[in-house]
Order: sequence, then C-alpha cells, then structure tokens
Amino acid sequence: LFITVEGGDGSGKTTQSQLLTDWLEQGGRTVLRTREPGGTPVGVLIREIVLHHRGEVSPRAEALLYAADRAQHIATAVRPALARGEVVIQDRYLDSSVAYQGAGRVLGADEIRELSLWAAEGLLPELTILLDLDEDVARGRLDADNKRFDRLEAEKSDFHRRVRAAFLGLAAAEPERFLVVDAALPVAEIAAVIRERVAALL
Ligand code: C5P
Ligand code: MG
Repeated sequence: LFITVEGGDGSGKTTQSQLLTDWLEQGGRTVLRTREPGGTPVGVLIREIVLHHRGEVSPRAEALLYAADRAQHIATAVRPALARGEVVIQDRYLDSSVAYQGAGRVLGADEIRELSLWAAEGLLPELTILLDLDEDVARGRLDADNKRFDRLEAEKSDFHRRVRAAFLGLAAAEPERFLVVDAALPVAEIAAVIRERVAALL
C-alpha cells in the first residue's frame, strides 16, 4: 500500500504522517515512512541543491533535479519496500512537483506530470492525503519556527496561492485517489479522518 501526503508548508504533513505510521505499526504493519526530496542518500545531496542553492537553479533544472530525486527514491527505496509488502507513507510526491514546479514555477502541469511519471516508471499511490490550508494560517503556524518561516517568507504570496489551487485542482480531477482534509481542524480530528480512510484500504 502506497500512501502519499501532500500540502503546503505548515499544513501538518510531518505530524500526520507520523501519527498514521504509529497507528499502522501498532496494528502490526511494517511501515516505510519517507519523503521527497531527500529520501535516499543521493536524494539528500539533491535536496541540498534544490533547497539551499535555489537562487542558482533555473526552473527547468529544478524540475529535473526533483525528477532525479524521485527516480532514485522510487527505484531504490519505495518499490523494494512495496515488494516486501510494507506500507509506504511518503511526504510529497509527484503532485508536489505538479503544484510547485508546474503551477508555482509555471512550467506547465502536463509536462511536469509526464516527467514525474517517467521518473517513477508510472507508479501512482493508492491514496493521496491532501492537507489543505489557507496560506495565512500556515504563515501563523510557521511563525513559531523562524527557520521554517523564512523558507515560506522567501516565496511570494501569489506563488503559494497558485500551489494551493493546483493541489485542489489535482484532487478534483482524481477524487478516487485523493482524500482532501481541512488542515485547520484539530490534529486528532484530522488523524481520525485519515485512519478511517486508510482502514478501508487495508
Ligand atoms: O516540507 P518539505 O521539507 O518537504 O519542504 C521542502 C520544500 O521544497 C518546500 O518548502 C517546497 O517549497 C519545496 N518543494 C518544491 N517542489 C517540490 C517539493 C518541494 O519546490 N516538488
Ligand atoms: Mg514538513
């Protein structure tokens, strides 16, 4: 079972992935909890480039770096775990690329989706949890953590609005793959909604 968790910065992806992982492990499942970019040793090097040398990387080069990270991650970590019968819970996947590189950086959603699917040899998750959050709420949450706030602040408001709209558009286009959750709800409530959906897939 392959589950991805998507949403903007500060939407609670890390928290909800961890809670879902804990619940599955308590139920006796083996879980690979992972993320993109940076889910493999090669990916850690790519993550360093895309996150800390962002200003030097052209939009197309950035898209290809995310695709390279994804190719390595799917081939060396995700597919082997799925083959062992494990549940994979992954923060960010191709929908993030469509939203950030496709809509955010205006490279075009179709091209980015094609590139991502090529990189991942067509692997799509059975479930994608979209934690949908208003940008102002996200900003408020990240305010407590200066480092993360800087990261969000570095991007323009308009960029984040396009990213959020792109995520919602993707969810509307594939309602059977997506579970959209209002990320402003209490953590425990969100976790319960997610567990209910995942239980139906097990
Ligand atoms: O939340 P996480 O640590 O995964 O965030 C990594 C950052 O990388 C995000 O803030 C986002 O701006 C960026 N990103 C991106 N394109 C992707 C995935 C992440 O621009 N495909
Ligand atoms: Mg995070």
